Amino acid sequence: MDLLRWFRRGKVPPLLLLSNREPFVHYRGPDGAVGVASPVGGLTSALQPLMAATGGTWIAWGSGSADFDVVDEGAIVWVPPERPAYRLRRLRLSPDEVRQYYVETANRALWPLCHSQVHHFRYDADAWRTYRKVNQRFAVAAIAEAGSRPAIVWVHDYHLALVAGALTRVPNLFIHQFWHIPWPPADILRVLPTARELVRGLLGNDLLVFQTSRYRLNFLSGVTDLLPSARISLSRQTVRYRGHTTAVRACPISVDVAGFERLAARADTAQIARSLRKRYLPRGGQLVLGVDRIDYTKGIPQRLEAFARMLEHEPGLHGRVVFLQIAVPSRSEVPDYQVLEREVVVRVERINRRFRKARWDPIHLVRDHFDMTMLAACYRAADVCIVSSLQDGMNLVAKEFIACQRGGLGVLVLSRFAGAAEAMDGALLINPYDIDASAEALRTALTMKPAERELRLESLHRHLQSHTIGDWMDAIQTEVARLGRW
Ligand code: UDP
Repeated sequence: MDLLRWFRRGKVPPLLLLSNREPFVHYRGPDGAVGVASPVGGLTSALQPLMAATGGTWIAWGSGSADFDVVDEGAIVWVPPERPAYRLRRLRLSPDEVRQYYVETANRALWPLCHSQVHHFRYDADAWRTYRKVNQRFAVAAIAEAGSRPAIVWVHDYHLALVAGALTRVPNLFIHQFWHIPWPPADILRVLPTARELVRGLLGNDLLVFQTSRYRLNFLSGVTDLLPSARISLSRQTVRYRGHTTAVRACPISVDVAGFERLAARADTAQIARSLRKRYLPRGGQLVLGVDRIDYTKGIPQRLEAFARMLEHEPGLHGRVVFLQIAVPSRSEVPDYQVLEREVVVRVERINRRFRKARWDPIHLVRDHFDMTMLAACYRAADVCIVSSLQDGMNLVAKEFIACQRGGLGVLVLSRFAGAAEAMDGALLINPYDIDASAEALRTALTMKPAERELRLESLHRHLQSHTIGDWMDAIQTEVARLGRW
C-alpha cells in the first residue's frame, strides 16, 4: 500500500504519535541563541513524511533547554523548523518526574526486565507511581489533541506502557503501539511487582506490535499467566480482555536501506573508509568492528573476551587484525552503566597489554558518538562486524552494516539473541555467553574465502531489500487500516 497516498486521500483520521523522545529539540547555545537539533535516526526520518501527510501531532517529553521558549501557550511548536508541516506538543516534566519516570522506571526497571537482565533490575514503588502519572499526562495530551474527532494514536515503546490503558474507553480513537525492545518470558515478567498493571495497560491497545514472533508469544504467555480471565485466540492472534480486543502482531523494524547504500557508496565516505583503514591497519590486515551504546545488554565484555581468546589460539593473526570498538557512552546517570564503562576500559587495557606488539594494539576503543557518514565509513572499512547482544529487540547496527557492505566482502557475526538474527540468513550466529564458540566464529569470519563471503552477503542483501524501514511502516499501517476499517 502507498502509505502516504492512503493518508492523503483524507479519509483517514489524523495521526497522534506519542514517544518519549521528541523529533526536534530546541536548546540554548553558549552565546544565548536558540538552536535546534534533530536525532538523525532512521525511525525519526521515516516518520517525518507520515506526520506531514496526516497533519497530525507528535507528543513527546520536552527535554531541550530552550524547548519551552519556542512553544505557544498550548506547548505546541510547528516542525520541521525549515518547513513546518505538523505539530509537536511538548510535555513539561519536572526533574523529579524525569528521574522517576525515565531513569528509575523506564531505564532501571523496564529496560533490564524486558532484556531478561534481572540482576540489573531495580523497582521503586514511588517511581512507578510517577511513571503511571506521566503516562496519564501523555494520554490527556492525546485526548486534548484529538478533541471529539476520530484519531489514530500511535504509541512508541516501553516508556509509555500505560498510555493505551488510559485511553481505551475514549470513543473514536484507534490506539496502536510498537514495542521496540524484547518482551521477556513469563517467569521473568513476574519479577515486576506491577506486571499485571503493565500487561493490562498494553491490552488497552487495539493493535500491539512486537519485533519478533518470539516476543509476541512471550507476551501471550505472560497474559495467560497474569490475567487468567483473558481469552487468547492463537488463530486470529488476538486477546480479548474485559470486553476489549487487542490484535497482537510481530513486525521487525529496519533501517533506511537505500539511504545507507547511497551514503556508503559516496566518494567522501569511501575516502574516510580508506583513511580509517590506513590509520588502524597501517601494515594491512583485517578490521573487526563493533558499534554499540555502552549498555550491559550489548555483550561488550563477552565480545572482548572472545576476541582475546581468538588471539590466544591464533598467533598467526597477531599484528594482522585490529578490533575497532565504537562505544557510545549512555545513561551515565545509572550506576550500572558507569560500572560497565569502567569495566570495558579496563578489559581493553588488559587485553592490549597482554598481546601488544611493536606498532600493534589489537583493540582500539573509541568512546564517542559518530555521525551517520562516519558510521557508514566504518561499516564500509570493516572486514567483519560483530554484534554480541545478550538480548536485543532488533539491533539496527547489524542491518546498517549489511546495507553499507553493498559490493563489499564483509562478514556479520551476529548474536542469536538479537531480534535481527531471526531472519538474517547469511550471518554467522553466536551465543555470546559461549566465549570459545564466539572466538571460533571470529576466526571463521576472518579466514573465510571471498566466494563464501559474497554468497552470504548476497543472501543478507536480498533479505534487506524487502525489509526496509518503509516496509515495516507499510505493514503496520496496512494492519491499522484493516483493523480500523478505513
Ligand atoms: N549510532 C550512531 N552513532 C554511533 C553509534 C550508533 O548514530 O556512534 C546509531 C546506529 O547507527 C544505530 C543506533 O545508534 O542506528 C543503535 O541502534 P541499535 O538498534 O543497534 O541499538 P540501541 O542503541 O537502539 O539499543
